[in-house]
Amino acid sequence: MASKGQIGVTTENIFPVIKQFLYSDHEIFLRELVANAVDATQKLKALAATGECKEEVGELKVTIQLDEKKQQLRIIDNGIGMTEEEVDKYINQIAFSSAGEFLEKYKDQIGNIIGHFGLGFYSAFMVSKKVTIETLSWKEGSKAVKWTCDGSPAYEMEPIDKKERGTVITLYLDDDSKEYAEKARIEGLLQKYCKFMPVPIVFGKEQEWKDGKYVDTDKDKVINAVEPLWTKAPSELKEEDYMNFYRTLYPMNEDPLFYIHLNVDYPFNLTGILYFPKLKDRVAVERNKISLYCNQMFVTDHVDNIVPDFMTLLHGVIDSPDIPLNVSRSYLQSDAAVKKISTYITKKVADRLEGIFKEQRAQLEQKWDNLKLFIEYGMLSDEKFCERALKFALLKNVDGKYFSFDEYKEAVKDQQTDKDKKLVYLYATKADDQYAFIQAAKDKGYDVLLMDCELDAHYVNLLEQKLPDTRFARVDSDAVENLIPKEDKVKLEMKEDERYDLENLFKAVLPAGNDYYVVGDNLGEESAPILITQNEFMRRYREMSALGGGMNFYGSMPESYNITVNMQHPLVAKIWADKLSSVAPQAELPAEAPADAPEEEKTKARQAREAVRKAHRADVESFAAGNESLHQIVDLALLANGMLKGKALSDFIARSYSLLK
Ligand code: ADP
Repeated sequence: MASKGQIGVTTENIFPVIKQFLYSDHEIFLRELVANAVDATQKLKALAATGECKEEVGELKVTIQLDEKKQQLRIIDNGIGMTEEEVDKYINQIAFSSAGEFLEKYKDQIGNIIGHFGLGFYSAFMVSKKVTIETLSWKEGSKAVKWTCDGSPAYEMEPIDKKERGTVITLYLDDDSKEYAEKARIEGLLQKYCKFMPVPIVFGKEQEWKDGKYVDTDKDKVINAVEPLWTKAPSELKEEDYMNFYRTLYPMNEDPLFYIHLNVDYPFNLTGILYFPKLKDRVAVERNKISLYCNQMFVTDHVDNIVPDFMTLLHGVIDSPDIPLNVSRSYLQSDAAVKKISTYITKKVADRLEGIFKEQRAQLEQKWDNLKLFIEYGMLSDEKFCERALKFALLKNVDGKYFSFDEYKEAVKDQQTDKDKKLVYLYATKADDQYAFIQAAKDKGYDVLLMDCELDAHYVNLLEQKLPDTRFARVDSDAVENLIPKEDKVKLEMKEDERYDLENLFKAVLPAGNDYYVVGDNLGEESAPILITQNEFMRRYREMSALGGGMNFYGSMPESYNITVNMQHPLVAKIWADKLSSVAPQAELPAEAPADAPEEEKTKARQAREAVRKAHRADVESFAAGNESLHQIVDLALLANGMLKGKALSDFIARSYSLLK
């Protein structure tokens, strides 16, 4: 006898409401229904295994049928099925009331909720004007029933004649949901959500090429791999299996560098395979390449609140029934289970890298350049990972040799310890541009690291905090004699007047627009006459602020350079001697006004002093302007630093020819 009833949902118009709220996620209805069907088969399998269900279970599968014309979609399983009482209990009471509760609870924040909560059976109404369930329970003596609901809280139940065990859900697609009556759309969704479900998901037939067109064969087309790689024991698998699996996941990508097979069942359940992709620069990085599964059902590829940020650079799959899905994203981060999972994954990644460091050192070196962005990012953003990585991260020098931190310290400590017992690690960021400086350092017996990764400005800072008594200096941040000061050097004595003259002399011929700090130094006759360097710390802050580090103050300042003039170089010595003989010394400065003098008198005195200085500076500048040797050595120094451009460069070339005449 047919029965009618009211579903236990209070709000009359709950369907239109939920349809609207969940608009962007309509497609998940298919995942939910297939997941229920898969569950029903798994439950039957379990009952058969315990002997509770004695009948022959046969080949368990889920079939999706689409009738494009009638706009009907069927999800058919041969799982446990439901009795009339069960339909009443699970569908009428539980499924619908929990959907009602759900809506009640989250109505204020529904937009924030992860789009992947299990709305279950109820989600069928997001795309249907009518839904029927035809089902026959596995239990002996059960009678088949049909349940029909047209989207209002009223339903009907009637006995039917259904012989096969299991459930058929039929969706009468509504007019807004025509897209789901398209074969390609359904196939796409099945590929997305059901690719690794544990029983065969059948959609249509395999096709073959016959008489000039594709025709259906009688072989079922199975969408999924029933036993995806992560469900297998690592001991059964070879490297090639992992690589092939990667290729099926990301057919367009280059092969990954390494993989990790995750497998834990206590204190939480998690399996998965993570891959380290080749990372060359940040721009090319593709995030959200890790897919999250729950018992082989695809959930999301946004795992950013489940794993630490740097891990989102990895690719692969994580499968865990213990990650709560029906909560908001911000909640996820503070969830204790998720924290444990995140810590576990970080630890496993570090374990694996340490293993590679110990057992496959040659491979690690070979792949390091593509891996280091990931490791540096991890070290910068995750304290625990950083502690671990200090044991397996590598440093590379300009000759392409790799060292661990311990090895590097051993290698350079004799040569590169300064007078304060600090180790000084020299590094270059561009081997070509800094060639002369690198060479000078090597000639002194120093080693130079290559730090050409875009995170290196921050990384160098981090290492200075982590490595005891170690300081980093870029090779071109000072004259090689000063990079690693060995003993207190006797400073060059210069009178204040002379210092001003030297400064004005060089500033007169250096390109405008920058700040210069000019100092005379004795660097020996063999060293270059002029060195242009940039203060290590100023440069680093500037680079970090360019990368985004909240130090914009430095970013907006003009470039500033140190100009070290080697007073012992014969060319400098000659220019300086010429200046002394051609430019009259500065006239004596008029006296300052006494402290208690009237303001007007003070200003006058100040201006008089300034006029004397100015006149002298003009003399120095006019001497500088006419001194070809001065122009030439400054231009050569600029050229060595890649700073000679435009008109200055063509003037330099013209002057060089005329000097050669
Ligand atoms: P959930 O799956 O989260 O429990 P659903 O609303 O999806 O919630 O389903 C409610 C219940 O209905 C399920 O727990 C199950 O007992 C029953 N059910 C749904 N679909 C099927 C099916 N295809 N076969 C057997 N039972 C089903």
